Order: sequence, then C-alpha cells, then structure tokens
Amino acid sequence: MKTLLRIWPFFKSYRLLMFFALLAVIAQSLFTLVVPSLTGLAVDQGVVTHNVNELIFLSGLILLFSFLRGMATFLQFYLGENAAQGVSYQLRKTVYAHIQSLSFGFHDQAQTGELLAHGTSDVEQLRNFTGRGLLMIFNLTLLMLGVTVALLKMDWRLAALSVLILPAIYWRAARFSLTIRPMFRIVQDQIARLATVIQDNAAGMRVVKAFGHEQEEIAHFDKENAALYDGYLDSTRQTAFNTPLLQLMSNVSTLTMLWVAGYLVIVRAITPGELVAFYAYLLQLVGPVARGGFLMAMAARAAASSERILEILDAPIAVANRDDAEQLPPIDGRVEFQDVSCAYHPGRPVLEHVSFVVEPDHMVALVGATGSGKTTVANLLPRFYDVSEGRVLIDGRDVRDVSLTSLRKQVGVVMQETTLFTGTIRDNITFGRPGVDDDTIRRAAKAARADEFIDRLPDGYDTIVGERGASLSGGQKQRVAIARALIMDPRLLILDEFTSAVDVETERLIRAALLELMRGRTTFVIAHRLSTVRAADSILVLARGRLVASGTHEQLLETSPVYRDIHASQLSSTGDDAEPGGVGPEAELASEVAG
Ligand code: ADP
Repeated sequence: MKTLLRIWPFFKSYRLLMFFALLAVIAQSLFTLVVPSLTGLAVDQGVVTHNVNELIFLSGLILLFSFLRGMATFLQFYLGENAAQGVSYQLRKTVYAHIQSLSFGFHDQAQTGELLAHGTSDVEQLRNFTGRGLLMIFNLTLLMLGVTVALLKMDWRLAALSVLILPAIYWRAARFSLTIRPMFRIVQDQIARLATVIQDNAAGMRVVKAFGHEQEEIAHFDKENAALYDGYLDSTRQTAFNTPLLQLMSNVSTLTMLWVAGYLVIVRAITPGELVAFYAYLLQLVGPVARGGFLMAMAARAAASSERILEILDAPIAVANRDDAEQLPPIDGRVEFQDVSCAYHPGRPVLEHVSFVVEPDHMVALVGATGSGKTTVANLLPRFYDVSEGRVLIDGRDVRDVSLTSLRKQVGVVMQETTLFTGTIRDNITFGRPGVDDDTIRRAAKAARADEFIDRLPDGYDTIVGERGASLSGGQKQRVAIARALIMDPRLLILDEFTSAVDVETERLIRAALLELMRGRTTFVIAHRLSTVRAADSILVLARGRLVASGTHEQLLETSPVYRDIHASQLSSTGDDAEPGGVGPEAELASEVAG
C-alpha cells in the first residue's frame, strides 16, 4: 500500500476521472444492494400473499435496478480504465525521461535492457490494478459494509454470523497475497533478465556467429528461460491451490448461513422473504469474495511493479545541473585540469592529482597503457562523470558551474564504437542539429570524406541504415560519425582514434576527415598512431592514473622513458604513409565494400 501511495502523484491529472469512476462504484454497489431486498419483498408481498400485480411491479423494479447496475458497472470500468491508461502514459513518460537523465555512473551498473523491461511491463501491471483492481476492492468493501448493515436491520444473529465468517475468508485471501507477492517479484525479475539476454544476443549476433557460439547462447537462454518457467509454476501452484480453497470456504459459509437462516424462518424469527433476501445478499458477495484472492494477487503484482518503478525513479542523478547553473557562453576552448582526481567507485581513484593546461586550438594527444586513465580524462570534459577532487575548467569556468546542455553542445565526441541510429543517413548526420539545411549536411559529409560513398548508395542521404547501422562498413560508419560531430561545429573535440583495422585507402580517407574535423578546435585525441602524436602540439603521458610527462614528441623521446616504451610498443604507423596517388574510384569502391 505504501509503495502504491507513492505512485499517487501520477493520478493527479486524472483526479476527475477517478472521482467519477468512484461515484460509479458507489452507484453500482447501491444498485447491487437494492436488488436482494427487492427480491425479499417480492417473495413476502407477492409470492406468499399470492399478489400477482405486486410481484410484477417488484420484478419490474428489480429489472430496472439491474439495468442501472449494468450502466454503473460500465461507467466504473470505462472511467477507471481511462484514468489508469492516463496514469500509465505519464509513468512511462517519467520513467523514460528519468532513464535518459540518469548519469553514466548509473548506466555503468544497471542493465539497460532490464531497465526498459521495467519501464513497460511494470507500468502495465500497475495499470491493470489501478484500472480494475483498485475499484473492485473499493466495490467489494462497500458491498460488505452494505450487506452487514442490511443484515443488522434484518436480524442481529445473521449479521453476527456473517461478520464472523466473511473476515475469515478475507484473512485467507490476505495470507495468500503475502505468499504470492515475492513470487511475482521473482517472475518479473526473471522476465527482465530474459529480455536482457535477448537484447545482448541481438546486439552481439555477429560475434556469436563468428565464434560459432550459437549452441552456448541457446543453452544460456534456456537456463534463464527454465528459471522463468519454474518461477511461473511456483506462483501458479499457489494461485491454483488458493483460488478453489477460497471458493470452498465461501460456499461452506453460505451453506452454514442457510442452515441458521432456515432455522430462523422455522421458528418464525424472520419471514421467508427475508431468508431469500439474505441469501441473495450472500450470493452477491460470494463472487467478489472468491475473487478476493485474485484481487490480492493483482495488488501484490502491482505492488512489486511499483517497487521496481520507484527503484528507477529514486535512483539519484549523480551528475546534474546545479540550481544556479549558468549557460556556458560560446567558448574559446582553453582547458585546464587543476589537481584532478577521479574515482568511479569511492576510494578507488583512477586519476590522481592530474594538472595541465591546454591553449585554444591546440591538439593534445593522450597516451598511456590500457587502463592508465586516458578515457577518464576525456570523460571529464563533457562532464560524463564528476571529479572527486580538484577542478576541470573550460575557459576558466568549472564545468560543474554551467548547465550540462550548454556544455555538451560545445564538446564534440567521436568514439571508436560508432553508434548509428535506425533511420536515414541524413537523420544520423543531423542528430545534434535537426532541421539543418541540405547544403550544410553535404558540406559536413564532404569534409568527413563521406559524400562519395553516400552518393553511391541507392537512396543517397535518404538511405536507411539498419539496426545499429549494420549495413554500412566500419570505415563508412566512422565517417558518418565524423560528419555528425562536424555539423555541431564544437570548439572542443574529443577523439578516440580508431584502432580498427581498415584498408589503406579507407584509413587515408578517415585520417583526412579527422584532420578536417580537428582544424581550428581544441582537440583531445586518445592516440594510437605515430603520425597523430607527431602532429600534436603536446602529448600527455599517463601511467596508472598519474600524469608522468608532457611535451612534444621529440622532447618526450629524449626525456621520458615511459614515453619511449609507449613509442616502441604501442604506437602504430600503419597507414601513416599511405600514398593517396593512383587510387581510382573503382579501387575506392572496392575498398569500401571490403572495409
Ligand atoms: P584508458 O582509456 O587509458 O584505457 P580508462 O580511463 O578507460 O583507461 O580506465 C582507467 C581505469 O578506470 C581502469 O582501471 C578502468 O578499469 C577503470 N574504469 C574505466 N571506466 C570505468 C567505469 N565506467 N566504471 C568503473 N571503472 C572504470
């Protein structure tokens, strides 16, 4: 209940709908309660006294109230469902927006697939309950109260009996809900896990096939699939056992009551009409009370779902705008690290006391062994993560003092892992600046050396790139990504130099595109090529999270043994001296098809 209450704010805009739905429930309960007493009257004043007119009149009334009850039931479901759909729309929107704004730190740990499964299936569970279950519970409560009052008016002994028996049924239903709740949570977690396996597999299909790993994948899926099966069986066993038990309990109790009421008629404490009315009351309750178990299960499922929804909504946004965050005005691109330390996990710093200054338009190469902290330095500029000590300054302003959007709009990032979205090439190039004119798109593509291959595609810029851009070659995707960065015209650029092996010609095109991209911007390159470090204005050498040397290639070769090691073992000169001459369009086409 507590978790459900926390979802309450989402009902706010649908208060009116909920209010009318509740009115419909009240009306429905009243009409339901009227029918048994009318039936009793029909027996006493029509049947027992042989008064046909009275019988017809009361039957007509019963018919009228049954019709009204039908109308109220319709309104109750229709309005309730309407409100619930609205609430789930709001919830999906909020959850999705929250997932978007969660920081990198959160996404590092959470399985995104699981999050998405949360977002949709949990909201569905909740909608099911709020749209129907909640109103049914309210309805049931009203009916129980009404029946108790009606019985009290009739005969206190009958009322006392029902007050004893009905709560017993309710208690059983509640116990059942307590057992079933954790089971449903397990099932829902397992569904999410299965979704993650499927998503991972779809994303890594090429690797799976390349490694001939299909059987292992099937086995892996089968394990999770079987766990889901077991989870469902467990919860089904509980439901299957408890539902008839509850039914039996309510049948036995109606029978007990028939004995007691029959005895009261025999000793003339109540009339036969009252016996019929009493019985009719109980029949009205049997169904709902037996469904009580189902309602409880529904509530349990909804509670488990809201817990998980709240888990997402409660996840703190670690990297967020300060309340007084200002817009970052157009920058020159001067970058300064002041004694920066950074830790992904508290107490395990991956950068320690790093300080340096980079002047506008300079190109800086970050070099160091794998895990030395190059990516982390780059991550701090667009504030993907926050420093744990020290400051990162851009044009003298702490990145934490300015709004994230205004900062990130001016920092271009080109990663090794190129993600293209499903859509046209044009959509992908204009990702950061939708609606930009065709001329600008073409210029960006040309500068990125992507225009030629795009023109040769069947639909040019309107060619749809498949899921994750699978239909383009690696080299082509990289150039589209470069065009995407170019169109933003960022003053500050972060570049993870591509290490993937492409043929000499594609390599040459990519290098040319990158040089174009870097021109006139402050650039940080995570460098893997000798030619890149040679061209850099300065090189920062990282080792185990510390800045151990900095300078130009020549200076460092003389002064830094760490750099000499890196130079000898890590920097590649592949493609550096590629001769541009003698490569015709055919050869280029061939290389792109191959690449
Ligand atoms: P490089 O780019 O030089 O290979 P990184 O900056 O990626 O180095 O990594 C530095 C250290 O931080 C490594 O030990 C790595 O395991 C760790 N690390 C990097 N990213 C994360 C992350 N998202 N969460 C936790 N640890 C990380």
